Amino acid sequence: MSHEVEHDVIIIGAGAAGLAAAQQLKAAGVTALVLEARNRWGGRIWTDHTYGPVELGAEFIHGEQASTWQVIRPAGLEAEPWPRGRQRGHAYRTLLARQGRLLSDESLPGRVDALFEQVTTYNGPECSAYDRLLALAGSDEEALRFVTNSLACLEAADVARLSASAVSHERALNTAGWENSHITAGYDALPTLLAQGIEVRLDTAVTQIEWSDTYVRLETQNGYPMTTRQVIITVPLGVLQLGQPRFLPALPEVKQQAIDRLAMGHVTKLALHFNRSVWPEFTSLRTDGFVLTWWPAGTDAAPVLMGYTGGPAALELAALGQERAIEQGLQELSQILGDDVRSAFVAGRLVDWSTDPWSLGAYTYTPIGAGQARADLAAPLAPTLFFAGEATSTNGHVATVHGAVETGWRAAAELLATR
Ligand SMILES: Cc1cc2nc3c(=O)[nH]c(=O)nc-3n(C[C@H](O)[C@H](O)[C@H](O)COP(=O)(O)OP(=O)(O)OC[C@H]3O[C@@H](n4cnc5c(N)ncnc54)[C@H](O)[C@@H]3O)c2cc1C
Repeated sequence: MSHEVEHDVIIIGAGAAGLAAAQQLKAAGVTALVLEARNRWGGRIWTDHTYGPVELGAEFIHGEQASTWQVIRPAGLEAEPWPRGRQRGHAYRTLLARQGRLLSDESLPGRVDALFEQVTTYNGPECSAYDRLLALAGSDEEALRFVTNSLACLEAADVARLSASAVSHERALNTAGWENSHITAGYDALPTLLAQGIEVRLDTAVTQIEWSDTYVRLETQNGYPMTTRQVIITVPLGVLQLGQPRFLPALPEVKQQAIDRLAMGHVTKLALHFNRSVWPEFTSLRTDGFVLTWWPAGTDAAPVLMGYTGGPAALELAALGQERAIEQGLQELSQILGDDVRSAFVAGRLVDWSTDPWSLGAYTYTPIGAGQARADLAAPLAPTLFFAGEATSTNGHVATVHGAVETGWRAAAELLATR
């Protein structure tokens, strides 16, 4: 079939994966146009600069060996270890609270850590992480509750669906390391860096992908069709699961099954800003309230407590709406940390990723029986369609920025190999 082709390569999505792919192609002398539905680039990297940088999406560079350092260091972007005191020799300090009270059981943190370690190194027949936790915890209900919530937050998952063996497998593959860092100026400096020299067309949602083995024709929300030789698709799983964009002809069964089998997880963030820090130094505070985890963020001058709730509980928190969620967060924090929390409060912001129309969730997790799905989703439909994005990561770096960047590099290499 012949068709007049206007563009060489189009990339759908200007998140970490799409922009990394565009840079990789540019380095090989191939110009790509990036189409982005939002009015900004960065996707699930989104920094609020109102009171100093506060991360509404991705927050940490996960790992001292994360591949994103290959971009951050040469550009001279300043990054600092997290927790901020880490360089100054402070130890990690996790506080555990239940029903509004800090727990003083000295053996509990050790039991929680041990249970977490056991469940995340599981090597056995396929089962849910929750079933595995139940079997491992025995009568230790306190440790069970904290580890269930921690895993729900970390994986953004419903732990009753989450595959225990996939969690262990992905953690075992991880080569990025486990130390966390922040980009000092805000995480959004990374996509801004990756967008340099790339043509990104904002406010341009792709609604239909008509594909063949010689050309691809894209329909956009603005009603302006485009024809291109090759496409890299980085649309998040939640959006693909809704059938957006529409594929003509429909995707092969194996690809569609991969989309259906993987799960998009939920995270709701609640950022509370204060005019002074009125809490003891801690790295994370884990509770059983509406907000499952808090950590200190912001700067000394503009301190923030970041509430992070993952899994099904994220939907319950989001359902409160911003005003009631802020009140709920303040109430829970003042019970645990004291009434000064209220008097020092300045402003709050709730971010519900599950209703964000261009991600429809926070990041992916692997449910029971979906072990092959990421590889199936990643596989190109060469020579015209290529797939990248966090969900397509097969090297244990799923649900991260560096994992997304690596998939962009991988898809770009696959595309270049066809030439
Ligand atoms: C709350 C939260 C906390 C996180 N914390 C961390 C963390 O601390 N560290 C870490 O490494 N990772 C973290 N992550 C994960 C990380 O943000 C993602 O894995 C990564 O940013 C995904 O990049 P991506 O390019 O695959 O997808 P995205 O960033 O989602 O990019 C895809 C782009 O496609 C666009 N798009 C969607 N549909 C269309 C369409 N039809 N047409 C055109 N464009 C479209 C979207 O608007 C988006 O910009 C977090 C994520 C969330 C939500």
